[in-house]
Amino acid sequence: MNSLSISQSPILRSLIVDPKSINLHLICVICQELVVDPKECSGCKILFCSICIFKQLEKNQSCQNCCQNIRLNDSHPIVRNLISEIQIKCINEGCSQQMQLSRLDSHLKQCEYEKTNCPHSGCNFKDCLQQMKVHQQICGYITKTCQKCKLIHKMNEEHDCLDIVIKKIKLMEKQIQQQNKIIRKLAKRLDQNEKKKNQQINDLCQHEFEQNQVMVKCDKCHLKNTQSICKKCGVCQCLECQLYEII
Ligand SMILES: [Zn+2]
Ligand SMILES: [Zn+2]
Ligand SMILES: [Zn+2]
Ligand SMILES: [Zn+2]
Ligand SMILES: [Zn+2]
Ligand SMILES: [Zn+2]
Ligand SMILES: [Zn+2]
Repeated sequence: MNSLSISQSPILRSLIVDPKSINLHLICVICQELVVDPKECSGCKILFCSICIFKQLEKNQSCQNCCQNIRLNDSHPIVRNLISEIQIKCINEGCSQQMQLSRLDSHLKQCEYEKTNCPHSGCNFKDCLQQMKVHQQICGYITKTCQKCKLIHKMNEEHDCLDIVIKKIKLMEKQIQQQNKIIRKLAKRLDQNEKKKNQQINDLCQHEFEQNQVMVKCDKCHLKNTQSICKKCGVCQCLECQLYEII
């Protein structure tokens, strides 16, 4: 609960350090206690609790102070200020701190008796700061990394390191298989491109064979000095057997 919601709730009355010190203007004319979520009569400016005046309006439309037909306004900012200055006790059981209502929010941020939730996900533990410190030593929902298999797990979870390692290896094998598949695909495409390129060069080339005698034996006819190499596409032709071969 924060100071705003407390100022609009009857709980506020039970927190007041000294009820006799309350400014008389802040007393509801109907219930005679500190006004809660106050409204004021536009005629005489007297204050009512919202609950009190709405209940009364069901029976009677006139202000019981000025006897005029009532029109309600929100209370003046000064009223809200006066209420925020009321000295109250901390709402937390066990805490003996006292402060102005307006200081409650900042106090609760450091109140040792303020109950907070354990920050570790999945844990339902809720208690004051002191107990939370003790709990943090033993909370089963703190995550840690296993030194053997590097698995990140909650303290209260058991696991079999060997099992985890086997699973990891299987996963890696699967990844390697997939990568190999991709590599084979790429190699195939590269091969096709290469063939295509050679084909295109061959198609373009007219093989004049006017130069570059090669001093090797022809594989087919076994004669020397019968072969010519095409300067453009690298195709080799034996003039004897007219075989075309790509070098
Ligand atoms: Zn009242
Ligand atoms: Zn009035
Ligand atoms: Zn406190
Ligand atoms: Zn916990
Ligand atoms: Zn492990
Ligand atoms: Zn050629
Ligand atoms: Zn030949």
